[in-house]
Amino acid sequence: MTERTLSIVKPDGVKKNVIGDVISRFEKSGFRIVGIKMLKLSKEDAEGFYIVHKERPFYGSLTGFMSEGPIVVMVVEGEGVIDKVRKIMGATNFKDAAPGTIRADFATDIERNIVHGSDSVQSTAFEIPYFFSTMELA
Ligand code: UDP
Ligand code: MG
Repeated sequence: MTERTLSIVKPDGVKKNVIGDVISRFEKSGFRIVGIKMLKLSKEDAEGFYIVHKERPFYGSLTGFMSEGPIVVMVVEGEGVIDKVRKIMGATNFKDAAPGTIRADFATDIERNIVHGSDSVQSTAFEIPYFFSTMELA
């Protein structure tokens, strides 16, 4: 099924100059970028985005990290893109990430793991409109 997912190159990914590499992996997998922009989140913006994790012990640190510098948010479209982007990203903890995944290649920390991808259709319904209006999606 053709789907859309929300992906983010996190502040560590922007600092490591891997924006292009992340986009390239998505495009080479046959997906289309239908919306993209660079943003700098406030702590409150990051807290709103990760509200689902607000009871987790890492919430404060995660939202501090996500607001420490610019990020690139994008909407990626294609067949089965939600699960496929998660596969291209690799496991949350880079130590568990399969070889050749973005996190295995670039992450150095469970928190600073380069990239975000929505985990379900329900998540995309919250995450895509959090950053994009319909006018901004091609
Ligand atoms: N995270 C963390 N410690 C943990 C689990 C997650 O710092 O023990 C951070 C990490 O940056 C992760 C984000 O919180 O990407 C959201 O966690 P989630 O479980 O949703 O992982 P994801 O869907 O990004 O793989
Ligand atoms: Mg998640």
